[in-house]
Amino acid sequence: MRENLDPKTRLMDGNDMFRRLADPDLLTRLTKAHEPFIAILTCSDARVDPAKVFNLSLGDAFVVRTAGNTASDPSVLGSLEYAVDCLEVKALLVLGHTECGAVKATYECADPGNLDGALKDIECAKSKLDIADAKDHALVAESNVRLQLRKLGDTSTIIRDAMTRGELVMFGAVLDIGTGAVKFI
Ligand SMILES: [Zn+2]
Repeated sequence: MRENLDPKTRLMDGNDMFRRLADPDLLTRLTKAHEPFIAILTCSDARVDPAKVFNLSLGDAFVVRTAGNTASDPSVLGSLEYAVDCLEVKALLVLGHTECGAVKATYECADPGNLDGALKDIECAKSKLDIADAKDHALVAESNVRLQLRKLGDTSTIIRDAMTRGELVMFGAVLDIGTGAVKFI
């Protein structure tokens, strides 16, 4: 059982398998060009893997992952701006998900430590909902996606200008962990 291997051995075995299955022509092409068609800001949650959820190939998506898929850290915004400005992605997706630990932490976590900025964003997203909806974690996750989309457009001149020029579209979505279905919003 691979699950019983120590973490490093499990990764080494996995990489052996990856190399056996990988298309050498694709790998060669990827050394010559980095041309993702989309940038995705999503959660670090291990159950949320954009490449698997959207059946993407290596090289298709430029992915930035943070707990709670928030753009509050400057390096997150800078990474997405790099994708828009230098890699010229055609779309930017903010992908939230159900059962999000960062959303749950806003109800439970006494000391968020360095996650403070992310949790403040989610609290803000919660405040946009009425009292009943603010108790529904999935609705809070969706509200947080809308908030991040607004923040990206408001904060980044690079992103806003690309959208104004018609070179970038931005949209949000929420992944249902239980069904694998993605609801675009
Ligand atoms: Zn999450």
